[in-house]
Amino acid sequence: MPQSIPRVASRKGVLAAATPPAAQAATRSAAATTTRLVVRRADTINPHLVRITAIPTNPAEISRFVDLPHTDSYVKVIFKRPGVRYPEPFDMARVRTELPRAQWPALRSYTVREVDPHAAEVVVDFVYHGDSGLAGPWAAAARPGDELLVLGPSGNYAPDPVADWHLMIGDDAALPAIAASLARVTAGAPVHAVVEVEHEAGRQKLACPGELRLDWLHRSDHPDSTHPLVEYVRTMEFRPGRVHAFVHGEAGAVKLLRRHLLDERGLTIDQLSISGYWRRGVDDETHRAMKVAERAAEATAPTAGSTSVD
Ligand SMILES: Cc1cc2nc3c(=O)[nH]c(=O)nc-3n(C[C@H](O)[C@H](O)[C@H](O)COP(=O)(O)OP(=O)(O)OC[C@H]3O[C@@H](n4cnc5c(N)ncnc54)[C@H](O)[C@@H]3O)c2cc1C
Repeated sequence: MPQSIPRVASRKGVLAAATPPAAQAATRSAAATTTRLVVRRADTINPHLVRITAIPTNPAEISRFVDLPHTDSYVKVIFKRPGVRYPEPFDMARVRTELPRAQWPALRSYTVREVDPHAAEVVVDFVYHGDSGLAGPWAAAARPGDELLVLGPSGNYAPDPVADWHLMIGDDAALPAIAASLARVTAGAPVHAVVEVEHEAGRQKLACPGELRLDWLHRSDHPDSTHPLVEYVRTMEFRPGRVHAFVHGEAGAVKLLRRHLLDERGLTIDQLSISGYWRRGVDDETHRAMKVAERAAEATAPTAGSTSVD
């Protein structure tokens, strides 16, 4: 049985109180911890998705990924800059104090899709979105034996066991977190999940002990629509009762969804875990800088809180 989790709104609108203070401290410390994994398998699930199964070089470190309080647990994959000498063993705290910022590695966030403690395996699903960027192309080229250095895991959300129903909305990048979250809802709890993928091949079998309604949207079926997911959610019927919603994906779509859910559906921020996981047309560094700027603008705007993306 899931533990009883108090609900408290945080500035991000996520279920911050899913984590009691001691666990929050543990999460902060975990976020700074580096684990060295090695790729065991790299499977092409479909043309847009590569599943990496990796094992820690020290098998005991699999415990860092087991029994986590959050269902959207994610790591930051570390991409070293070519030509830079990093401390061995790699230590991000030392990197930050000893090296100039330009030499710090690039980081990319990825959800822990599954963990098998017995096999000491961690599974991460990488969207392959073409040859641009670091993480997508890395996953597409990954081979058994390759190093996978990660910071974390951290997390922000777990399905509220006292919610009347759950709403989970996302695109391919959020699908691993939705899959992990569906697996952890209370038995019998109503869940409506809407997932946007490129085409039918992107669908996955998702396990859920709740009463799941799962709607798949294919971008390929909507060539003229910029945001098929947003259009779908705007017209979908909501169940009665208090909803707890998990909404993640492309930042432009998420911004529109946030506005819709708060302003038109009447949700309050404490019912929402919502953020842009990536942003069309810009890399992750730029996306994160834009998030910071948006938050600053939000903090000073007279109508603070209603439209920006976390
Ligand atoms: C908490 C969290 C968890 C995440 N979990 C996952 C996960 O499990 N799996 C996953 O695949 N992603 C996940 N993401 C999203 C992932 O971090 C971003 O997509 C990231 O930008 C990919 O890095 P990159 O180096 O491949 O591309 P970048 O260098 O960041 O970007 C290069 C170009 O690719 C585009 N791009 C980036 N991501 C996508 C995409 N998904 N689809 C289409 N175009 C894209 C950018 O707009 C840019 O034009 C998560 C993000 C967060 C914040």
